[in-house]
Amino acid sequence: MLVIQNISELVVVPPGPVSGRAMRKVDRIRSAAVLIDSDRIAWFGPQTGLNAPSGCEIIDARGGCVLPGLIDCHTHTVFAGTREGEFVQRTEGKSYAEIAQAGGGIRVTVEAVRRASLDELVETTLPRLARMLRNGVTTVEVKSGYGLTVDDEIKMLEAVRRLRSLQPIELAATYLVAHTTPREFNGRSDDYLDLVFDDKVLARLRDEQLAEFCDVFCETTAFTVEQARRVLTAAKRFGLRPKVHADQITQMGASTLAGELGAISADHLEKINDAGIAAMKRAGSVAVMLPGCSWFLGIEQAPARRLIDADLPVAVATDYNPGSSMVESLPLVMSIACTQMRMTPIEAVVAATANAATVVNRQDRLGGIRVGMQADLVVLDVPTVERWLYEPGRNCVYTVVKAGRAVVDRDS
Ligand SMILES: [Zn+2]
Repeated sequence: MLVIQNISELVVVPPGPVSGRAMRKVDRIRSAAVLIDSDRIAWFGPQTGLNAPSGCEIIDARGGCVLPGLIDCHTHTVFAGTREGEFVQRTEGKSYAEIAQAGGGIRVTVEAVRRASLDELVETTLPRLARMLRNGVTTVEVKSGYGLTVDDEIKMLEAVRRLRSLQPIELAATYLVAHTTPREFNGRSDDYLDLVFDDKVLARLRDEQLAEFCDVFCETTAFTVEQARRVLTAAKRFGLRPKVHADQITQMGASTLAGELGAISADHLEKINDAGIAAMKRAGSVAVMLPGCSWFLGIEQAPARRLIDADLPVAVATDYNPGSSMVESLPLVMSIACTQMRMTPIEAVVAATANAATVVNRQDRLGGIRVGMQADLVVLDVPTVERWLYEPGRNCVYTVVKAGRAVVDRDS
């Protein structure tokens, strides 16, 4: 048994999805304690009611705040190479689209990933995950999408699988082969999709459990709504749950499609419209906000307030990737959600825990504080979540517990 005691405030996030106004109504227990049995939460409440068996291992929270482990539910964490040249070009006034048209963008990372071996992908990703863990992130969704051949996409997904056994963060994998059309298929995007969504490929992903989700980048520079409908429907038949990169630059009906397909989430949504909101509500899809991406590119943010007011469940993630969001700190992105999207700190916490757990289909086990849920917990060195997100860029994480085991202790 393990006890966390001397907690100034325990943020009792309910299991997801948490929609609309409910995102603000989260119980908080002052002077609290948590009792953990093996990998599960066995009891929590005011410390005066703690009845811990003798010989318990103890974590002293030292008057810090405790909340569920963070879940980064939209990332491209497995990649090779960097693109700081484009970062400089943007400071000089070039847009992301202009850089892509001039041969930069995703295709640069595709070349680097194709050149990298499986071992190299694993080695370059490990330190990223270690830093995410130290920021309080205990679960990460990782997309493929930089291989763009069946073999290179599977190499990325195999890297994710190998990374599961090498470090404590739980990883959920998404097949994002429809990220962009590779150079060799220029002007033949349907042929490309036929190849990478062949039944044999989808059956292999299912049989070898290489991915749980399938995502499509729906945009004028990537794939149309009709193409996305076709491939996501095919993937669904093989048990891959749909997601969509939707409404980022252009409103072309992508979030409406997400709702129609019963997508687990639609992500980005900077240009979402009323039809998209209505379709997502009907389907119970989660709206994933990626404020670090808009911040990094210096473009408009998604209307998070409007989506919360429409009673949708809203999640927040980093979109960590080498082109449009070289931002691996989820707490920083949560803070950006507060300052740039006017989300409250407690909404940002629910968005990065319970609702993010829903986006990776783990809401029954992760992202909340309930007896019987997995003991993934973060101890902060500040007394409240408000105080935490008010200090963007400083790592306030003191201890991280993953499945009942302390995996980060800043003092040790
Ligand atoms: Zn993305």
